[in-house]
Amino acid sequence: MKKAPGRGAPRRKPAAPKEGEASPPAIIAAIPDAALPSFADLGLIPALLDAVRDAGYTSPTPIQRQAIPLALNGRDLIGLAQTGTGKTAGFTLPIIQRLLEGNHGGSDSHRVRTLILTPTRELCVQVEESFRKYGRHTGLRVTPIFGGVGVEPQTKLLRAGVDVVVATPGRLLDHMERQNVVFDDLEVLVLDEADRMLDMGFAPQLNRIVSEVPRFRQTLLFSATMPPEVEALARKYLRKPIVVQVGRRSSAATGVTHAVYPVPRDRKTELLAELLKKDGMDSVLIFTRTKHGADRVVRHLSGMGVTATAMHADKSQVERMRALEDFKLGKIRVLVATDIAQRGLDVSGISHVINYDVPQQPEDYVHRIGRTGRAAATGDAFTFMAPDEIAMVRSIERIIGEPIPRISVPGYDFGSVAGDLEEVRAAPVSVSRRRTGRR
Ligand code: AMP
Repeated sequence: MKKAPGRGAPRRKPAAPKEGEASPPAIIAAIPDAALPSFADLGLIPALLDAVRDAGYTSPTPIQRQAIPLALNGRDLIGLAQTGTGKTAGFTLPIIQRLLEGNHGGSDSHRVRTLILTPTRELCVQVEESFRKYGRHTGLRVTPIFGGVGVEPQTKLLRAGVDVVVATPGRLLDHMERQNVVFDDLEVLVLDEADRMLDMGFAPQLNRIVSEVPRFRQTLLFSATMPPEVEALARKYLRKPIVVQVGRRSSAATGVTHAVYPVPRDRKTELLAELLKKDGMDSVLIFTRTKHGADRVVRHLSGMGVTATAMHADKSQVERMRALEDFKLGKIRVLVATDIAQRGLDVSGISHVINYDVPQQPEDYVHRIGRTGRAAATGDAFTFMAPDEIAMVRSIERIIGEPIPRISVPGYDFGSVAGDLEEVRAAPVSVSRRRTGRR
């Protein structure tokens, strides 16, 4: 496969592949915004049009405009899109339609027809919820399978028969080894957030799972980034895929405004306390590098009377789900998370994301700020940058292709960023914004 498109790679017409050979992905041109098709124009059936209307969507997002017609046609797809772009509906809607329309092979209630693999439990639950939301009136049975909870209830559900399994790779393999589920009749395989699955070391599990599903199937692969490992995965598992992609949501034009606050490490908590006093900081997701860091921030905020809870790997699945639920319901104002919550977290109405620590992987920055400004919403994403994190911020700026505006708070700014990307001076008001780049 040729170098993946995007990231400034030149678009070129792929050579015609020989029969049976993995073909380089074709690229479809971005559809101009002027002639926006509606969901009906994409070929969705009335039951799904009702479902999207019930969900409050007025028009398809760019990834949906591109992916839905192709997926309905049975094509293999590589979707270069991150969370927040509407990609889940982009694959869920056509899959539901194909499952309803193509009832090939009789009505054996035990055959699983679609498998969706996700890197995290949170994303697994989110995708399952989407299936339920969009497939409400269809009678399709969908079950989520993830670790950290009892095996038995999942075993019962799988053995009773389901149409769609949404799973994290490790727990799914356990069930496959126990013969609780077989995929002999699988029609559609989805690898969601493939880059993240590989980052998390799931390559061996993916190989084993895919070796147990039929070769003739439709495969959809979604990934926010396209490193060589993901390309190799696509080459191995997909047949003549078409690449669809949408622009990054990190750009100010997409609704998220983002900024960096220069602040010494030992004063980050104070700055956080200051920011939380500002209007509109209603539902704030904070990322810390470590579990201890998350707990420390929660203790500090609780001491100030701010409702906050931590979500990280030391918390049980039940605690994590409760934390998420309370946050969604607005019972707690601040959720402090380590990277486990980075993707797959669909919380409508997050007002702000704060990177208390600069993300170690530049790509993670994009995913994190994708938590806010989801679909039609807008939001702010702030990053606290200590002097030893300047280089990491620069790497992020290289990846997203634009400088991140600096906000200098007098008394906090350590003053060492002048000449970094823009000149920052202490401003007369308590919090002043000086933006670079587009708004
Ligand atoms: P996703 O990228 O799949 O995680 O979706 C991000 C968010 O966008 C979710 O909260 C969806 O409910 C929402 N969404 C998906 N499609 C649309 C649409 N066409 N219009 C408005 N919101 C949407």
